[in-house]
Parts: sequence; C-alpha cells; structure tokens
Amino acid sequence: MREVDIIERYFRREAGSAAGVSLGIGDDAAVLRPPPGEELVVTTDSLVAGTHFAPDHPPDSLGHRSLAVNLSDLAAMGAQPRWFTLSLSLPLAEAGWLTAFAAGLFALADRHAIGLVGGDTVRGPLAVTVTAIGSVPAGGALRRDGAGPGERIFVTGPLGDAAWTWRQLAAGGAVPRDDALWARFAWPEPRVREGLDLRGVASAVIDLSDGLATDLPRLLGASGIGADCELERLPLSTALRRRAGEAEARALALSGGDDYELCFTVPPAKWPALEAVATAWPGQPACIGETRATPGCRWLLSGAPYQPPLPSFEHFAGDGR
Ligand code: ADP
Ligand code: MG
Repeated sequence: MREVDIIERYFRREAGSAAGVSLGIGDDAAVLRPPPGEELVVTTDSLVAGTHFAPDHPPDSLGHRSLAVNLSDLAAMGAQPRWFTLSLSLPLAEAGWLTAFAAGLFALADRHAIGLVGGDTVRGPLAVTVTAIGSVPAGGALRRDGAGPGERIFVTGPLGDAAWTWRQLAAGGAVPRDDALWARFAWPEPRVREGLDLRGVASAVIDLSDGLATDLPRLLGASGIGADCELERLPLSTALRRRAGEAEARALALSGGDDYELCFTVPPAKWPALEAVATAWPGQPACIGETRATPGCRWLLSGAPYQPPLPSFEHFAGDGR
C-alpha cells in the first residue's frame, strides 16, 4: 500500500465533517478559518508503542486514545475542539489494523465535531502523534495560573483506574477487555463538556495525565499558592478499591497517571455556579482540598502528613548524568 492509498482509504473523508475548513487533506497544508473574535488553542501529544501502550494494543482503542489525550488538553484550556492533524509511524500498513484504528479515531472525533485536516504517514516504529486545535473567545482560555488562596480544589472523576491497568499490562499480566478498569485505560473520556462549562467558573484548570501528585503542584506553582488535600476525599472507583486495596488505590490515584480527568480550583463566589453546571455532567466533581497562600502541596491521611509515592514513570530520568 502506498502512502497516498493509506490516506485516501482510511483518513480522507467527505468535506463537511468540521466547520471552518477552507482546504483540508490533499494539499501541502490545510487552510482553516477560526470563528471571528476567537483565539486558537493548540496542543500535541504522542503515543509510542512500548512507552505508552503495548505493541499489540487494540487499534480501535489506540485511535481513540491518541485523539482523547489531546482533547483532554483542549478541555483543560476550556477550548472548543475544531481541527486535528495525525502523524502515523507504522512498521507495516495492515488493512485490518488501519480500519480499526480509523474507526476508533473517527468515532471520538465525530462526537466532538473535530475534523481531521492533515497529517503525515511514514514507515517506522509504531507511534501516533496528534495535534489538536481548538478555540476560545479571546482572553477566555482557562489557565493554570489563575488560582488564589481560600478556593476549593476539585477533580472531575475517579483517579487511578487507568494506571492500575497499565501497570498490570507492563508487568506482563492480563486484563480482561470487559473489565471496567480496562475501559478506563483504553477508552478515556476527555472532559470536553466539563472544560467548556468551567469557563467563567474555575480560576485555574489542569488535566491529569501524569498523576494528581505531579499535576496539582504544577497548577499551584503556576498560581504561586499552596494547598492542603485530604486523601480520604480522593474519588476512587469501587473496582479499583476491590482490585488494589485502599492503600494501593490511593497511591495509584496520586502517582499513577493517565487519568485524563480535570483538576480545577473554584473561588467561593463561584461555588453555586459550579453546582449549577455540574448537574448536567456524567460524574459529579469531588472536592479534594483547599488552596492557601503558603506555597507547597500538603497531603494528609487521617490528619497526618503523607508523602505520595514517586511518579511511576518519568521518560528521561537518568539521562544526561
Ligand atoms: P507532503 O509531502 O506535501 O508533506 P504528504 O504526501 O505527506 O504531503 O501528504 C499529502 C496530504 O495528505 C497532506 O494534505 C497531508 O496533510 C495529508 N496526510 C498525510 N498523512 C495523513 C494522515 N495520516 N492523516 C491525515 N492526513 C494525512
Ligand atoms: Mg508530508
């Protein structure tokens, strides 16, 4: 199969799947029309076989995930998804694999009305890079640096499920495909709607990709404040509690990663507004702590200080020494 055949057969679709595309796949580059008065929000994320997923990972899930992790970043900015590009590195072009990959990718793309407008297709180790573009009303992006002291800290859903699954797989274990914890790893649901609703409500937002104990301090650091969080308030799924036990579930929720939930702060004046928008969400936000002026993130378990385990994964730990 030639590169142009792959693109034509699997990735080029009839125009009309996304608004604002003056010129889509097929030319040297795409030409896009942002809505008047809006700013563009751009993000990119790569998934590499062996690093982020097993080489035999189901292709439909891989298609979904490669877009989902980028939609999660747009959600954390309060952006409306608009367009994306897809760079595929494939060891070989296999029709069944490509069909399933494209099905998983476009099912999620269609649900969020985001259109594929270009990309690149090369032979190489299995890897997928998506660049996603969204938009916000000018000045309206949700950022990490807007939180103040005396605010509540929330997360949009249970943490640690995906990390449990990835850890099982990485250790050579099997996870049944009909397991709720498998779904949380293989089919993460980006919180796009929640991100849009948080415009004008949240003071700061970050999406949880590296684990709460890594990502929340990034938000706090950007905002120049600190926080007190109670581990008893972490949302943990029943499935995770049952499989991992309470202590391990907590550790995975803090340091596991791959959650793709949003973590955000809300000042007291906006608490009623949060309650109002959240009634329409599939899961209710959980308050896990409060911000304070003194920098640093303090974790408490039964009122005593708790040290979260080190993140399970750091790409470049040990390099450059
Ligand atoms: P060029 O050599 O000019 O970069 P390519 O032959 O790589 O062009 O790509 C031709 C067209 O197909 C371009 O519009 C490019 O954006 C698009 N394209 C290539 N690979 C993909 C892909 N995996 N998904 C979507 N569009 C793609
Ligand atoms: Mg090219």
